[in-house]
Amino acid sequence: MPLISVAVPVPFLDLLTYNVPDSIDLPPIGARVRVPVGTRTMTGCVVQHDALIGEGTDVRDIAEALDCEPLLPAPIVELCRWVADYYVAGIGDALAVAMPPGARARASAFKKRRVAMLSVAGSDPGDGSHAGSDPGDDPTQHLESPHHRGLTPRQQAALSILSAAPAGLPTSELRDRGVTAAVLGGLVRHGLVVLRDERDDRDPFERAAMADPGRDASRELTDEQRRAADELFALADTGEFRVALLHGVTGSGKTELYLRLAERVCGSGRRVLLMVPEIALTPSVAALFRGAFGDRVAIQHSALSDGERHDQWHRIRRGEVDVVIGTRSAVFAPLDRLGLVIVDEEHDSSYKQEETPRYHGRDVAIVRASRERALVVLGSATPSMESYQNAAAGKYVRITLERRVLDRPLAAVRLVNMRTEYADEGPDIVISRDLAAAIEDRLARREQVLVLLNRRGYSTAVFCRQCGDTFECPNCSVSLTVHRAHAMWRARCHYCNHSVTVPKACRKCAAPYLEHKGFGTERIEERLREQFPGARIGRVDRDSVRRKGMLTHLLSKFSSGELDVLVGTQMIAKGHDFPGVTLVGVISADVGLGLADFRASERTFQLLTQVAGRAGRGERTGEAIVQTLYPEHYSIQLACRQDYPAFFEREVVYRRGMRYPPFVALINGVVRGRSFEDAMQLAREIVRRLEPATAAATFTILGPAPAPLGRLRGEHRVQFFLKGTRRADMRIALMQVVAGMPEIRRRLTIDVDPLSVL
Ligand code: ADP
Ligand code: ZN
Repeated sequence: MPLISVAVPVPFLDLLTYNVPDSIDLPPIGARVRVPVGTRTMTGCVVQHDALIGEGTDVRDIAEALDCEPLLPAPIVELCRWVADYYVAGIGDALAVAMPPGARARASAFKKRRVAMLSVAGSDPGDGSHAGSDPGDDPTQHLESPHHRGLTPRQQAALSILSAAPAGLPTSELRDRGVTAAVLGGLVRHGLVVLRDERDDRDPFERAAMADPGRDASRELTDEQRRAADELFALADTGEFRVALLHGVTGSGKTELYLRLAERVCGSGRRVLLMVPEIALTPSVAALFRGAFGDRVAIQHSALSDGERHDQWHRIRRGEVDVVIGTRSAVFAPLDRLGLVIVDEEHDSSYKQEETPRYHGRDVAIVRASRERALVVLGSATPSMESYQNAAAGKYVRITLERRVLDRPLAAVRLVNMRTEYADEGPDIVISRDLAAAIEDRLARREQVLVLLNRRGYSTAVFCRQCGDTFECPNCSVSLTVHRAHAMWRARCHYCNHSVTVPKACRKCAAPYLEHKGFGTERIEERLREQFPGARIGRVDRDSVRRKGMLTHLLSKFSSGELDVLVGTQMIAKGHDFPGVTLVGVISADVGLGLADFRASERTFQLLTQVAGRAGRGERTGEAIVQTLYPEHYSIQLACRQDYPAFFEREVVYRRGMRYPPFVALINGVVRGRSFEDAMQLAREIVRRLEPATAAATFTILGPAPAPLGRLRGEHRVQFFLKGTRRADMRIALMQVVAGMPEIRRRLTIDVDPLSVL
């Protein structure tokens, strides 16, 4: 009896065992099968052959095999098993991330297009065969052939268009050139033209309309780049698993190194995966690689349509691609012969998936590379504490770029103490005098300005000045953020999206004294427009770029100089290379510092350093002005000096002393319930069952306690932490508890190596 293990997309569910009946050929690992689960039939993925079962266990038959070739390559199936194990998730959930869109459907999701071309044998109508089978045959000969005398002028015109395109033309394009379906139909009936359907791979590059940065391939590397390149080449040439941390200040030319290394690895017959936090934010990287590798590059990220992702995925799977550029899920791209994985901006929190399976793209990349004996390059100006610590401990090779290319100086950073500013100018001041003067100055010199505030919306809350009533979310324990759309005010929850219109008068006491509290990017934009009426101002945050293509549009307007000032959230702090920017203003550097999160300082340091790095990348030197209430805080001080090693030394003392990562591992569990007591009771039970496993003293349990975000989407939340030095012990203990309490599957979220703990 051929028994197979199948993963189905059900949270926390382990592998299921099925029999393959005689009527069905044994499906290979990585193939999809339809299997009965309870009373339903689901699409699952074969993970293992020769499954073992206990004596007398009842095993059901699979209903159908969907693929006779594996859809997922076996190494990717194995990688997903690792993900499920490490992140305490269901194997089905892990596999779902690796599957191309449409994998659960049966019909082909390829897009087809109809192509018309001249038929070679005019006497062979309707046959699917087409030009090219007969060398020397001139398709234009039909035009003179007596056979075709009866054609209308429009049919003649269509033939001459087609004769210039021996490979045929899509009917959509012919339509644009005035060749109607009726005209084509007539030609098909005459046997002069054949129509056929071909696969039309959707190519996301076309629509992104990315400007070719016009790379100068002969460009000399700087001495520092050269040394780094030599080291990286040597590592790549070993053909073994290695991890290099490329710590290079902003503007030190890391991208150029990625490209040269990729060329070297491809030249040796192996393939390359380049991971980026968000493609729309770094279009120049994708364009650069596209310029070098042409259509041997594929792109994979979540902003693509399912159709585009599907087509790109299958191009990779068919081996038509040497370089994959993508966001975190690209780590599962079905590339074979992987020789190099580059994780650009490796510290970026978008590599962590904040839903099940809660994997970290960088960490999965390292595991994948170790199995496929590839080189990993982690690049950043502000490495994560984890990666830098690993380099310090000798696990990673550290390669440093200390200077910007062409010796462009780093931006000078100036701090503005907002406490003084409030004392002098009153509580309504948002843009300090120094920053305002600097903006004025840049506008006069026709230079560009970035203004960062890491908080979207207009204000953080509205309240009534008379009775103090505020707008809280009825489902979540947060106040609603106010947004302005045209003349309307709406208060919206950033967690569950609940929204209400803000009335003119207070709902409770009817007094017309509603007041805004706090600032978001919308309000900064408004202030700037008031203060600098002549300036062309754009805004980039999640609200302004909701429409597809909007982000690319705004960024390209800014980079082509059609905007003078760009206001935005951390989206504008990442990787961009805007040579015209000479001033960066940071409105509240301390937005993240108040959070009860052990990574708050690290995040603040990273954000400030990155955003300061956007200034002065062109010929003119740059300046950053940072407004803060805590000018003496070390993360702000050291970001101003852009002194990463000093920040690391300081932060390490705190992490070690408080026993936080990277010195211990953390696992966060959140239990949800209809009431607080409900959630608390269940959390207590889980912790009680975990306790015996702490006897070995490799980990401790903290909590349960109310989560900082006590209510979310109407549910109450209670959390606990496991903290210890041996992650495996914690994971195994958790898995055992989960296995013994199937009812908690839908109420418990486990986050291994959490990035944010809210
Ligand atoms: P990073 O990614 O380290 O912040 P980039 O790779 O974006 O830096 O490089 C910064 C700028 O320097 C880019 O405009 C890039 O084209 C340019 N650049 C990189 N290497 C060189 C070089 N060897 N000579 C001249 N310009 C270079
Ligand atoms: Zn809400």
